[in-house]
Amino acid sequence: MRIEQVAITSTPIHLEEDIEAKEWDLDSFDIKFIKNIHLNFEFVRVGKEIVVKGKAITRRIITCSRCLEEKEEKVSYNIILSYNSSSIGDYLEIDNDVREEILLNFPMKVLCHNDCKGICPSCGVNLNYQVCKCKQK
Ligand SMILES: [Zn+2]
Ligand SMILES: [Zn+2]
Repeated sequence: MRIEQVAITSTPIHLEEDIEAKEWDLDSFDIKFIKNIHLNFEFVRVGKEIVVKGKAITRRIITCSRCLEEKEEKVSYNIILSYNSSSIGDYLEIDNDVREEILLNFPMKVLCHNDCKGICPSCGVNLNYQVCKCKQK
């Protein structure tokens, strides 16, 4: 998402754009971004500062680290960025910073649900759906 700096004034200007998720190369082995990343941002000039506030909304398929099941989910990132107006040129381009915010917000541990019971280490049953015989003993 790119905007000409002269277009940013003290009256917020609102921009929306869809970026193909694969263009941003965000995927890791257990998180795959699919379809589009929808950017919805507002740009405003506050003195010498340019404040960019908004959301990046996308869908991803995660592979749970406990039960190994895949789950598709919608994710929405609230992002606030600020720039010194003299340090940017004629155009302000926010893509790299938004991408970095998404990467910084990667979960430490990828889980389908916070209380995922995982897989039984001895019989391999998914304990979210079944009680295995090992446990009944
Ligand atoms: Zn799970
Ligand atoms: Zn078992």
